[in-house]
Amino acid sequence: MNIKIWGCRGSIPAPSTAGLVTNRYGGNTTCVSVRIGGQLAILDAGTGLRNLGLDLHGQLPVKASFFFSHVHWDHIQGFPFFLPNFDARSSFNLYGRCDPKLKNFSGSTVASALMLQQQSLNFPVALERMGAQLNFFKAEAGAAIELPGADGTLLVTAGELNHPGSCLGYRIEHRTPKGSRVFVFATDTEHEAGPNANLQKLAKGADLLFYDAQYAPAEYSQFVGWGHSTWEHGLRECAAAGVKHMLLTHHDPLRDDWALAAMETDARTAGRKQGVEIEAAREGMEIVL
Ligand SMILES: [Zn+2]
Ligand SMILES: [Zn+2]
Repeated sequence: MNIKIWGCRGSIPAPSTAGLVTNRYGGNTTCVSVRIGGQLAILDAGTGLRNLGLDLHGQLPVKASFFFSHVHWDHIQGFPFFLPNFDARSSFNLYGRCDPKLKNFSGSTVASALMLQQQSLNFPVALERMGAQLNFFKAEAGAAIELPGADGTLLVTAGELNHPGSCLGYRIEHRTPKGSRVFVFATDTEHEAGPNANLQKLAKGADLLFYDAQYAPAEYSQFVGWGHSTWEHGLRECAAAGVKHMLLTHHDPLRDDWALAAMETDARTAGRKQGVEIEAAREGMEIVL
């Protein structure tokens, strides 16, 4: 499976400026694509989604499945600017958490948040007028969604993470007759006293963990309860789940390239002592599992 990072900045886009250089790791908010032959899965629709849409524009019509961790702004703001949404031949299945209090679209929080985001005061084109067919589905902790492709199947399982207002992580397994590879998407989660049982279930034996490390370990005490974690705790989750490769994400919008590179070096040095390869995610980075 091919994994590509389109955005890995946390909270709000952080475009590079003279005072805060972010070119190396990128300023767009969360969006990751996972591709196998005949299937495209898109994890979150932060502003990074816009560039994925530009990339797909020459390949219309597009069929893909979106998996939303949650609907905080930094995970949905790219959606109105995703060009394939304006192509009537394209179609998308959108998975996310449901809330029985919401009346429309079977309680899909994703449908509600995207519709609100595109109310006329906020954006000129309503969600239902974009053109592409949008089908909303529930992603439930523990239930696997199967996406059969030309070279195996993507099996996507959700699990609840630890974030204000709730957030889902996803285990994405590419199963082929030759074996399987596993990518785990776990952003917007705060660590607990010990390894997080739900995350452990998702990450057990995974080949790659994409993990929220917004805060440097020394800063974390100022942000307890904000719903984000550190590389140190990510490393602890890796050790407990037998994961050997971790990508740090949800980079703090105030952390420039130099500060992030220094944090990456600290993490990498500590990781190597435990046999875990750690890198900070960078916009444009591609990984083949
Ligand atoms: Zn976020
Ligand atoms: Zn969030």
